[in-house]
Amino acid sequence: MKTNFKKITAILAAAVLSTAALASCGGSDAPAPVTETAPPAAANGDELIMGTNAAFQPFEYVTENGLVDIYDGIDVAIAKKIADENGMTLKIEDMEFDGLVAAVSTGKIDMAVAGMTVTEERQQNVDFSDTYYTASQVMVVPADNEDIKTAEDLKNGKLVGVVLGYTGDNIVTDTIGVSEENITRANRGIDIVQDVKNGKLDAVVIDSATGKALAEANGLKVVEDPAAFESEEYAIAVQKGNTELLDKINKVLAEMKASGEIEELAVKYNSEVGAE
Ligand code: GLN
Repeated sequence: MKTNFKKITAILAAAVLSTAALASCGGSDAPAPVTETAPPAAANGDELIMGTNAAFQPFEYVTENGLVDIYDGIDVAIAKKIADENGMTLKIEDMEFDGLVAAVSTGKIDMAVAGMTVTEERQQNVDFSDTYYTASQVMVVPADNEDIKTAEDLKNGKLVGVVLGYTGDNIVTDTIGVSEENITRANRGIDIVQDVKNGKLDAVVIDSATGKALAEANGLKVVEDPAAFESEEYAIAVQKGNTELLDKINKVLAEMKASGEIEELAVKYNSEVGAE
């Protein structure tokens, strides 16, 4: 019903517009053809659609009184600023992390702001903004765990959890080389950490700030191994060739970096969600 009503309204509006167009040019020119197809998301000037996976505190999470609807976090605050400074309204689409690159490259969303690490593989399908945060992977283990001290220890028959499509997944699978039957993949960091808590898994490999927040919230601890886990840089992904949006994003990021605002956001949200 709602759709039909919308459709009818759109057709009526279009009819009024084309009548007006005819009237204004004395009927000499043919009116532009009326189509019912909505413009692609990326072409809608007033709305800036951010795709994310809102299970990645302190960068994006669901909360009652979020900064934008039910969403809050460092990335939400950055994206809101990008929208505000460009007179746009930020709209947030919460989806699986693994689908974000495809959503950007097909124009379903304008940008992915999701604590997304710049990787060569992703760069084949999307363009990245300047980077705005440095992270690395950490291991979240039970508080009383004594035998996981380095990433190599994970190969000792440990049951390891990762989030599907995250850089942590690639590192555990390819770089460390944990055997496939010992790896469990989930769609959300929040969920997989529960399996460490309830003893189903020995460790979860996940990004540092999120790992710290989730460990603290669940009475677990974080083990770092900087030698094994290289630093990663987060950036915002846009459709390949969308330099117009990329320039807008980079301008705001540069301002926020120069003024220290990103650092302030990191401190604020890390303490709000209980990480270091
Ligand atoms: N930084 C990790 C990656 O890019 C995880 C991001 C996330 O979970 N939102 O794969």
